[in-house]
Amino acid sequence: MAKDGTIYSTCPVCGYIAFNSQEEACDNCGEELTEEEMRESGFSSMDSLIRLDQLYYFVPDDEKAAITFEQPTISEDGYTLDESWRPSVSKDAIKKQAIHYHEFRRKYPIKVEIIKKGQD
Ligand SMILES: [Zn+2]
Repeated sequence: MAKDGTIYSTCPVCGYIAFNSQEEACDNCGEELTEEEMRESGFSSMDSLIRLDQLYYFVPDDEKAAITFEQPTISEDGYTLDESWRPSVSKDAIKKQAIHYHEFRRKYPIKVEIIKKGQD
């Protein structure tokens, strides 16, 4: 799949065909999957980094929202979901992460801004 001349493959984190292997980053979820990112996060395998990224990706912002792996076939940014993709984390793991995340948000209320990486 190509968009603006970029060849995309399936992003291991979000499952959309939006992973730019040249940049080693996903244009949909914005996650970077580089050796550097892996080492900085203290992991020795890319799979561990992918699982961590997925925990954050699937934690709903709304505390009362259900945890689901269901995603629209076409993302908000217009990328296609790879129907054969499956997440590597469990819903239970996301639930645990969500508890920590929302506790943290209550303790340290901050305005979360999503900064999109792009070509200016
Ligand atoms: Zn992604």
